[in-house]
This record gives sequence, structure tokens and C-alpha cells, in this order.
Amino acid sequence: MPTEPMTDRLTNQTRCQRILGKTAFLCGFLLVFGGCGSNNTSMPEVVHYPTFESESVPPKVVESEPKLTGERSNVPEEWLPPSHVEKKWTAIVIHHSATERGNAAIFDRMHREENHWDGIGYDFVIGNGTDSGNGQVEVTFRWQQQVAGAHCGGTPGNWANIDAIGICLVGNFNHSVATAKQIQSLSKLAEFLQKRYRIPTSRIYGHSSTPGARVTDCPGNNSPVTALKQILGS
Ligand SMILES: [Zn+2]
Repeated sequence: MPTEPMTDRLTNQTRCQRILGKTAFLCGFLLVFGGCGSNNTSMPEVVHYPTFESESVPPKVVESEPKLTGERSNVPEEWLPPSHVEKKWTAIVIHHSATERGNAAIFDRMHREENHWDGIGYDFVIGNGTDSGNGQVEVTFRWQQQVAGAHCGGTPGNWANIDAIGICLVGNFNHSVATAKQIQSLSKLAEFLQKRYRIPTSRIYGHSSTPGARVTDCPGNNSPVTALKQILGS
């Protein structure tokens, strides 16, 4: 008989232990669960991972850039006109600045203030080492915007300003000659323009020999056009 109550007592103890065990398990579970909730404060670390993934995107873009430039031509990027405004050019007219020194910015100011034009009349200016580099090619707004020039007036229908590319070499070639680096840059630029617009060498003129142009001594007695054509071949 006494064994039964003992058994009951033990059974009750076991039940209590089980209940306590379950309670402890539930408490532990809630603690763990609550802990996960509190771990939400460290979520930015998890959010950080996509940042690493997004950082892997730029190299793909960087990789594609050299391919684009490689597919273009072997000339400075700024020589290439914006494709959405690029027009067809049919001739090239060479000028000298008739000044000992200068650069695109100086001529731009001169043409605005003295001639009352909307800016420098040429598409390109090639420096002589005075106010820009010796042989440095400066690209003007006319080329960048592909608008008509203001460098060779008097031609029928103003064709030379509308259809011809104006290149000015800094210097007065009545008193001096173009530098070797100017000739070098001029030939590289002319060659690029010839290929791009299929301009024959016969359509490269000194200002004074441009068909229909007003009388002028530009580009001087020591015109660089002769040397240019020797390099390009006729
Ligand atoms: Zn000229």
C-alpha cells in the first residue's frame, strides 16, 4: 500500500519535472526567438552584402570602355564629333593666324570683339608653342557643335564656310614658317578628316586658293599646304 502513494509521488514528481522541463524549453525557445528579434539591430551587416555584390558591377562597365575606344580611331577623343550632330564635310581650308602668337581662346575673343562673330571662326587651331603647345590641336565649338564656320568668306553660296573644315595654324607665315610639330599635327588631323569624310587631297586648299574665296594672302608666302600635300601624297 505505501508503495502506491510513493509511486504516485514519484509520478507527480516526474510530471512536475516534465512540466518544468517543458516550461524551461519554452522559455529557452522564447529567449532564442527573442534573441533573433534583438539581432535585427545587426541586420545592416546583412544588408551590407548586396553592396559587395553591386560593387562587382562597375568592373564590368570599366571593362567595356577600352573596347569602345579601341573600336574607334587612333586619334584624340575630342576630334570625333558628337554622332547625333555630325554632318558631311567636303573640303579642308588651311589658314595662318597672321599673328606671331595666339591660341583658340585668344582668337575666339578677337573674333567676337573685333568681327562681332558668334565666336572663333575656325574648327581647329594648331599651336606654335607660344600661347598653346607646339603642335597642340585645339578643337573649337564649331567642330563640337558641327556648325558652319566663319573662316573663308566670299565663296558661291558660302560653300567654304558651310562645307569646308577650317584649320588655323598659329603664326604669320609671311615672316616665318610652320613648325615641324605643327606640320606633323596638321597632317595627322588632315589624314583623319580625309578618311572620315572621304575628302581627296585635291580638296585641301590654302585659304587664298579656295575656289571663289575673296583675295587674301592667307596662309602666307610660306604656306604650309605644300609641305602638307607632300606628306599626304596626291
Ligand atoms: Zn585664312
